[in-house]
Amino acid sequence: MSTDPADSCGPEKFRLFQNDDFEADWVKVGERAFGRVYKVKLKLWRETCAVKRFSASVSGTSSYRRMIEEVSKTGKIKFNYIVSVYGVCSEPPAVVMEYMSSGSLDALLTTHDLMWPKKFLMIHEVTMGMNFLHSMSPPLLHLNLKPANILLDHHLHVKISDFGLIKWEEFSNNTEFIEHLTVRGNLSYIPPETFTQSCDPPGPKYDVYSFSIVMWEILTQKKAYPGANMMTVLMKVSSGKRPSVEKIPDDQPQECEALVDIMQRCWQQDSSDRPPFSDTVRETEALSELLKIPDILQPCKDKSHKLPSNAPRGFKRDPRTRSFDSGEDNSENSIIKFLSKKD
Ligand code: ATP
Ligand code: MG
Repeated sequence: MSTDPADSCGPEKFRLFQNDDFEADWVKVGERAFGRVYKVKLKLWRETCAVKRFSASVSGTSSYRRMIEEVSKTGKIKFNYIVSVYGVCSEPPAVVMEYMSSGSLDALLTTHDLMWPKKFLMIHEVTMGMNFLHSMSPPLLHLNLKPANILLDHHLHVKISDFGLIKWEEFSNNTEFIEHLTVRGNLSYIPPETFTQSCDPPGPKYDVYSFSIVMWEILTQKKAYPGANMMTVLMKVSSGKRPSVEKIPDDQPQECEALVDIMQRCWQQDSSDRPPFSDTVRETEALSELLKIPDILQPCKDKSHKLPSNAPRGFKRDPRTRSFDSGEDNSENSIIKFLSKKD
């Protein structure tokens, strides 16, 4: 493991890893057109990490150099709701980062039913991560915020990944930028102003719009525009249409209204009408506090409560969550508490 890597970035800015630095057992955890992600243990640190390798098409010298420059910046970012970047690997080019054992939110939304308090908390945690990136000087724009880039740790807490890897300046015009994002499957998260001919570079409100679609997908556990082609989505979004709020399940708690209000402000057609994350984060904080399980559940003393046969002893079912818990967040039952596997 070297700390004195590429000449363009000085020492101490990031670590340069080599293949030899890792154990032999590489487990593939994700694959896309642009590369693969592996789970592998670093010999020296004895730490399991994720290695995101880029495919041959993006492994050219200039791309690699750009990637090193990016990682040298993002590697310094440390925050609870942001995936830590440890460094880069030179051959083949790869980013080495914190391993997130519960995979992506994208996968979780399709495989499990999330309870309302967990949806609220996840939305708040995404806002925390995004607010942190935007509060940097200058703001670090994500430009690729989507459930596949929201990863989950062992306790299903959220961390944002792959921030700052897409740079608008690298494309010669908006059409190229949109095409690149569409190939990645990101069309739904692109705000309407990007579809106009104006060449204004995206600002923080780009990410705010993407966040609103992520919110909708968390609340509904559906995809915003399933099966729609690029032109249809483009026309819809440009004319001010948005995913239907009616799709949010009927059993929503009343606090959901406030969350929907935030979502609708975040997807305003005029980007200047969208709130900054510094405002949103205060609102999502208050709302997730309201639905926080420890505040609304008491250990069950009344034996007449009917519990599911697999409920842990001493637990009481909460009508709003349709789940049960002792009120503590440190038990192995955290998964039972917040979600159930889809049929
Ligand atoms: P994009 O390239 O636009 O970010 P993507 O997020 O769909 O697209 P990858 O970033 O290559 O694709 O990630 C693919 C999958 O690999 C993720 O959905 C996730 O399941 C897994 N993955 C990525 N990073 C990590 C990580 N740090 N820890 C654990 N799994 C990860
Ligand atoms: Mg990703």
